[in-house]
Amino acid sequence: MIWNPEKECASREELHRLQSERLVNIVKYTYDNVKFYHERMDACGVKPSDIRSIDDIGMLPFMTKQDLRDYYPTETFAAPMSEIVRFHASSGTTGKPIVAGYTRNDLDNWSEGVARCLTAYGLSKHDIIQISYGYGLFTGGLGAHEGATKVGCSVLPASSGNTSKQLLLMKDLGVTALCCTPSYALFLAESLHSTPGFSPDQMNLKVGIFGAEPWSENMRAELEDKLGIKAYDIYGLTEVSGPGVGGECEYQDGTHIWEDMFYPEIIDPNTCRPLDYGQTGELVFTTLLKEGMPVIRYRTRDLTHLNADRCRCGRTMVRMGKIMGRTDDMLIVRGVNVFPSQIESVILEFAECSGQYLITIDRINNNDTFQLDLELRPDCYSDNMSRMENLKKEIVGRLASVIGLKCDLHIVEPGNIERSCGKAKHVADLRKI
Ligand SMILES: [Zn+2]
Repeated sequence: MIWNPEKECASREELHRLQSERLVNIVKYTYDNVKFYHERMDACGVKPSDIRSIDDIGMLPFMTKQDLRDYYPTETFAAPMSEIVRFHASSGTTGKPIVAGYTRNDLDNWSEGVARCLTAYGLSKHDIIQISYGYGLFTGGLGAHEGATKVGCSVLPASSGNTSKQLLLMKDLGVTALCCTPSYALFLAESLHSTPGFSPDQMNLKVGIFGAEPWSENMRAELEDKLGIKAYDIYGLTEVSGPGVGGECEYQDGTHIWEDMFYPEIIDPNTCRPLDYGQTGELVFTTLLKEGMPVIRYRTRDLTHLNADRCRCGRTMVRMGKIMGRTDDMLIVRGVNVFPSQIESVILEFAECSGQYLITIDRINNNDTFQLDLELRPDCYSDNMSRMENLKKEIVGRLASVIGLKCDLHIVEPGNIERSCGKAKHVADLRKI
């Protein structure tokens, strides 16, 4: 099913016309209302009247996360505070958080994006959805909630934590769809298998909707197997809106971006030059309709590529490849570039691994150390030392051949690695402390 066929299946010509009209409007709107954009555009010698179509977007300056921090908390807002009806804020693990402000129209458009995603996953008013993203400042909970309400799903706002109650309600209400981070889904799946009184066959789950952190195809297979579901990716970020900037369709061959609202570009992160479809680089977004806190050419730091070929589902909107990771998630260990998601993907090639892991990087005597703590499935963990040693050798060898680095692998007892109810912490980089 398609939520909004008129938009999602519009011809590329119609989409180009709509994007052009909306870009012209948003550029004038931000130039007139936000000092930041006014000054940046003046500094580049660009006037709103220079922007006549979406093809002119390359004339506009980029915006970075640092800009949003520098203009904290609300100086990049374009609407007066009397029109702002909601705030959210990024997790901000380092420094100040990013505060986002939404008008009534922004919330409507946001839930439109989520509704398109949920419908693409096959959900309707006949579904019961458990939203186990955190509610509050994080955009996940309330964002998914309003979209699901728009579709007419019966919404269980479970938020994160209290896992045994989550499982009880999931079972007793016959929940059909679960929405949370992939890390928390893995924790719920483990608890489902290990908590007395619960088993996967008591559940009515069909669909998993996972996002807010990069996750690998092997993690998808793991979650589908453990929960008996089909698992879909949902993409979004606070600076642009929240979850629902795009989502997969039933063919799962990339994430459709709702381009009539969020215009994507891919650039070379070093030179900032635009890259063609198919080339991997940094994803950049321009919000074409946002009123509260619009962003123009915002550099997400997510690395991916775009595919403009028509999808078998009938949607015409571009598809984005799986996010390899954020440029700021990338680890440089002994001169080698590594993404935690690459490591996760290798780990999950081994049926014995549960998907719980922790990467610890340190520097000792000017040399980088790379330790990997790994949990096995409880039924695979054994005191048989030679069996464990053989498995370790295999995993270390496979990792070395894929990422080009040898790790110091520790197999730890099941349950020893700290679980996350929100975004996972898979990396401890002690070099930065
Ligand atoms: Zn599709």
